[in-house]
Amino acid sequence: MAHQSRRVLRLLSAGRAEAAGLSARRLELSARGCGGGGGWRRFGPAVPEDRRLAFKDDVLPFSAFLTDNFGRRHNYLRISLTEKCNLRCQYCMPEEGVKLTPRSQLLTTKEVLTLARLFVQEGVDKIRLTGGEPLIRPDVLDIIAEMRKLEGLKTIAVTTNGMNLSRLLPGLKDAGLDLLNISLDSLVPAKFEFIVRRKGFHKVMEGIEKAIEMGYRPVKVNCVVMRGLNEDEILDFVSLTETKPLDVRFIEYMPFDGNRWNFKKMVSYQEMLDRIRQQWPNLESLPGGKADTAKSFKVPGFQGQLGFITSMSENFCGSCNRLRITADGNLKVCLFGNSEVSLRDSLRSGASHEELLQVICAAVGRKKQQHAGMFSISQMKNRPMILIGG
Ligand code: SAM
Repeated sequence: MAHQSRRVLRLLSAGRAEAAGLSARRLELSARGCGGGGGWRRFGPAVPEDRRLAFKDDVLPFSAFLTDNFGRRHNYLRISLTEKCNLRCQYCMPEEGVKLTPRSQLLTTKEVLTLARLFVQEGVDKIRLTGGEPLIRPDVLDIIAEMRKLEGLKTIAVTTNGMNLSRLLPGLKDAGLDLLNISLDSLVPAKFEFIVRRKGFHKVMEGIEKAIEMGYRPVKVNCVVMRGLNEDEILDFVSLTETKPLDVRFIEYMPFDGNRWNFKKMVSYQEMLDRIRQQWPNLESLPGGKADTAKSFKVPGFQGQLGFITSMSENFCGSCNRLRITADGNLKVCLFGNSEVSLRDSLRSGASHEELLQVICAAVGRKKQQHAGMFSISQMKNRPMILIGG
């Protein structure tokens, strides 16, 4: 096996590893892939040709461990830091609450950082911290500061409900946080409270203002649009972008366990766009990046912009580059898939770096080409969103 590995390394690295600045370790692991093919398979199926060679046709090789059978390279990792939340959003968690995992089964700070390091070594360059509410985890600033030291990690982002944001912002900035997404579903305080089943509208608005003051650009605002609840506020949200450097992202309402999703409550991207165009016919479409989940637009002359996350009406599975780790340490390769594998258990049973990679690689290899479509998803057993981390 060592011989095979060296041979592949020689072939692959001819003139490339140095140019790409890759460590010999990373290249060796990448070359081996998920057990590789050609007789040096160790666990699970051999990596198909196109997957094994993911790093062969590019200047910068990308880990075969994080490349799936459809050539998708997973360079974006979302880590849920906690299952707990200080809000009770109707669309995110069941009214009766969720059964929380005992603390001993949640990832510790060290485990979170070990996994982050492993994924970054394999080519992940963006990590988003989410939850539950990530900003209620007491060690969140330490986690960000430690992640900041990871070579190769370009972007650290947080998705938050904004309740603790204004207090924590100076610390978050010092720790090295790059990007902020703040959830806000209504601009009417009483309606906000109805949707999130808690008070706190003014705290969230203060957090948004402070994020702008502290120079975050753009500050992204996530708004889940639901018929009969807040769809009448779409234009007001767009108006916010006139004088504020916000990127308001309208998210199609998605089905998760216990959130009482139904098709009639979902407002589609096309419907939202039509409404906005009636008010602002000159709305401009903005060019997007390959892996962008949002379709972006701007009203000419407005400071900010808007976007639509069309997970339901037009999935973006083809360019999906995301993996998720739940707070209890399960790797989830698709938000709408219920297959999960416990990285926590592997870590706690003393798995080596390489063994962990094999577990991750096998899971990535099982990722389906696309999710099953909105009606199947709504019938499927999955976690409530609060236990996944959006
Ligand atoms: N507590 C943080 C927050 O509120 O932003 C982070 C966790 S929350 C689960 C992450 C994102 O998922 C939020 O922007 C939320 O709006 C979105 N989300 C939750 N449930 C959803 C659903 N059923 N459909 C669409 N988006 C959803």
